[in-house]
Amino acid sequence: MSSPLLTEATRIARDFDYPAAEVQRGVAEYIRQSNEGLAKENTTLSQIPTFVTAVPNGTEKGLYLAVDLGGTNFRVCSVQLHGDTTFSLTQSKIMIPRELMASGTSKDLFTFLARQIEAFLRIHHNEHFEAHQRRRRDGNEEEDLFDLGFTFSFPVRQHGINSGTLIRWTKGFNIPDAVGHDVCALLQSAIDDLDLPVRVAALVNDTVGTLMARSYTSPGETGTLLGAIFGTGTNGAYVEKLENISKLQSMKDAHYDTHTGEMIINAEWGSFDNQLGVLPCTVYDRDLDADSNNPGIQMFEKRVSGMFLGEILRRALLDLHNNASVGLFKSSTTSKVSVPSDSLFYRQWGLDTSLLSIVEADTTKEMKDIKVALKDHLNIENASDEDCQAVKILTHAIGKRAARLSAVPLAAILIHTGKLNTDDIVDVGVDGSVVEYYPNFEGHLRDALREVPEVGPAGEKKVRIGISKDGSGVGAALIALVASKDETMHAPSKK
Ligand code: ADP
Ligand code: MG
Repeated sequence: MSSPLLTEATRIARDFDYPAAEVQRGVAEYIRQSNEGLAKENTTLSQIPTFVTAVPNGTEKGLYLAVDLGGTNFRVCSVQLHGDTTFSLTQSKIMIPRELMASGTSKDLFTFLARQIEAFLRIHHNEHFEAHQRRRRDGNEEEDLFDLGFTFSFPVRQHGINSGTLIRWTKGFNIPDAVGHDVCALLQSAIDDLDLPVRVAALVNDTVGTLMARSYTSPGETGTLLGAIFGTGTNGAYVEKLENISKLQSMKDAHYDTHTGEMIINAEWGSFDNQLGVLPCTVYDRDLDADSNNPGIQMFEKRVSGMFLGEILRRALLDLHNNASVGLFKSSTTSKVSVPSDSLFYRQWGLDTSLLSIVEADTTKEMKDIKVALKDHLNIENASDEDCQAVKILTHAIGKRAARLSAVPLAAILIHTGKLNTDDIVDVGVDGSVVEYYPNFEGHLRDALREVPEVGPAGEKKVRIGISKDGSGVGAALIALVASKDETMHAPSKK
């Protein structure tokens, strides 16, 4: 195994080691940055107050609506919560016409959205819809409104659970007259123009949705502490004590329910340690960042999430390929490997993170899955066994580092909230293809958790991690539910 290629691959892999002492240093710094974020604006960790002040325990009941305006599609769904940790979900998905995304007015867009909600109600909840219209006609004051959770994935400045002003459009949207306006109010007014029995009850962030969905579906009545996403990006939301969120005091127009004494914080941990005080940094991390369109930003995310792991691996493999004395994917007397000049191997972002999962999963001697994946993903044919070995060594190192890094915010939040001292089980909901599909991601994460002295093997055992699906559907519905019980909303009616 001491060929020049494998020796060099092993040497590079060691640069991705993230030993216990580094994990501990990371956790201490995360706690420091998170406290700073709770106290002040414009910090590395944003620690955004979400104004959601309670998590569900699985006994909630009722019928709620959720809509999701994120990118290309508009999703409308209704969620029936059965009160026993289960739910049924009905949904429709509509492409947003191009002209509404960019050239029209905000009224055009929001009227379109309200019409989709109307169509959805007529198809799936017509009885309720008609009863509402009948009551209106008869001048009956008593209303029976659907509470709706609005997942709006653009930058907003939130003032309360159901209000937030649009800071700017992204992702191809450009409707200038909406900027600076409350998007919940815009949607509500379009809904009211159509006389729909719907109240926009909550503005929803997808990470918070993940936390809420898990808290409802998790076994038993234990509330969930943390929701975490490891997909294209990485982020987390957790339950914080109100008294610790000292920056709330300086937010003048903020209004929220105080009776639980808690609020969910959206950590925005993708930007943890942008200053690189404690994050590990290989030459590949440095170059990836320098060549990205947002250098110096989202530095934690660039070491952990699906958008970046493939590119880190590609850069490391390219190094071995270009190093004439080791010659990865270079023909030898025993193999005639070929990398076409137009292979994605030579293209920035050309290596998808799903390849890492395939490589890590193939533990066979023949490594057939790896060979097939190299061909399918990168058009590399006839890779030798030794080439595949080298790919495995680096994949393992990069994936393992990502999983161990993921333990840093988790351990920090466990320690900071003191949850390990109070509860038997600490429930955590996760979502995203990386945590779901990368082999043993959770195992590596747990190894690192145990190495943090304040967590240790006993603490790690208390942590229950479960997949949480569909944060923008059931999660948003649950936020609408919590919001409808929020005393600061002065709701005019109740179902
Ligand atoms: P989103 O973040 O948009 O909600 P996902 O959770 O599916 O979607 O994450 C997509 C990211 O996960 C992409 O960066 C993709 O490269 C990566 N990915 C997709 N499949 C896998 C897999 N099997 N193993 C690891 N990463 C994957
Ligand atoms: Mg997702």
